[in-house]
Amino acid sequence: MIDPYGRNITYLRLSVTELCDLRCRYCMPAEGVCKKRHEDMLTEDEMVAAVKAAARLGITKIRVTGGEPLVKPNILSICRRVSHVQGIRETVLTTNALRLKELALPLKEAGVRRVNISLDTLDADKYAYITRRGRLEDALAGIGVALSAGFDKVKINAVLIGGFNDSEVPALAELTRVWPVDVRFIELMPMPGNESFGAEAYMPCSEVLKKLPDAVPEEGHDGVARLYRLPGALGNVGLISPLSSHFCAECNRIRLTADGHLKPCLHSAEEICIKGLDEEGVLDAMKKAIAMKPRQHGALSEKEKSLSARAMNRVGG
Ligand code: SAM
Ligand code: SF4
Repeated sequence: MIDPYGRNITYLRLSVTELCDLRCRYCMPAEGVCKKRHEDMLTEDEMVAAVKAAARLGITKIRVTGGEPLVKPNILSICRRVSHVQGIRETVLTTNALRLKELALPLKEAGVRRVNISLDTLDADKYAYITRRGRLEDALAGIGVALSAGFDKVKINAVLIGGFNDSEVPALAELTRVWPVDVRFIELMPMPGNESFGAEAYMPCSEVLKKLPDAVPEEGHDGVARLYRLPGALGNVGLISPLSSHFCAECNRIRLTADGHLKPCLHSAEEICIKGLDEEGVLDAMKKAIAMKPRQHGALSEKEKSLSARAMNRVGG
C-alpha cells in the first residue's frame, strides 16, 4: 500500500515478545519489564492473522524481533507460519545471538532467510557491562553457528556509543575481513528509559568513517544503511544514521508490538490496537496505520528525545 507521502509500505517489523535475556543499557531498564498478562499479548494465531492482512496490503518482508525473539517458546512455529504466508517473500530475524547455538539451524529450516545479530563490543568485560548480564563467548558461539547454518546473509549490528565502543570501530569493522558478514553501525537513539546517556554518547556515523580511512563507498544501499567496504573484505560496513541524517523519505515500514499495537512511526506516540481483531479487522487497522504515517519524525538528540511512548525492547528496534 502507498502511504500519503508516496512511500510504498512493504516491510513489517513484528515484535513477538517484550521479554529478553539481556538488559542492554540503551534499550531496557535494569529490572527488566513486568511480565504482562498472557491475555494482553498477541497470540501466535493473531500474529499470523496480522501477517496475512499485511501481505494483502502488499507487505513482502517480515522482520521478527522483540525483546529477544529467541526467548519466545513458540518462536519456530511463529517463523514457520509467517514465512509460509502467501505474499511474504522474506522472513528475517534480529537477535542477540545467545540462543543461536541451538536455534540457528531450526530457524533456517523454519524459513528464516537472514539474521541480524546485535554485538556492540568485542571486549568481554564491556559486553557484560553494556548488556548488564551477558557473556561475550555465548554471543560469539551463536554467531559461529549462524555462519554455518546456511542463512542467505548474517549481519552484525553495533550501536555506536561515544565513550564506550567508539575505540572499537576498527576492530568491529575488521570482522568483515574475517567472516562473510556485514557490520553495521547504528547511531544511538534517545528512547524513553535510556536518559542516562550523556551528550558524548550520541556520536554521528561520520565519526566511523574517520576511523576507517581505507573504507570505500559501495554502490547503492542496504535498506537504510549506507554501504562501504574495506579492501579484501568479505562483507560490507554499513552506516545507519537515524539522528544525523534521518531516512524518513524512504521509510517503507510499519511496526506491530507484542501487545498488539501498530506503530506507524518508531518515534511517534501514535498507536492503533489490534488485539482481539480478526484478519479483516486488522486489515482495516493496518490501512489506517499506513495512512497515519507522518512525513517525518522530529529531531532526535540528547535533548530532543524520541516521542515514542515505549522503550526499545517494547517496540523491536
Ligand atoms: N533482542 C534483539 C537484539 O538485540 O538484536 C532484537 C530486539 S532489539 C530492540 C533490536 C535492535 O534495536 C538491536 O540491534 C538493538 O541494538 C537496537 N537498539 C535498541 N535500543 C536502541 C537505541 N536506543 N538506539 C539504537 N538502537 C537500539
Ligand atoms: Fe534485549 Fe535486544 Fe534490547 Fe539488548 S537490545 S536488551 S538484547 S531487546
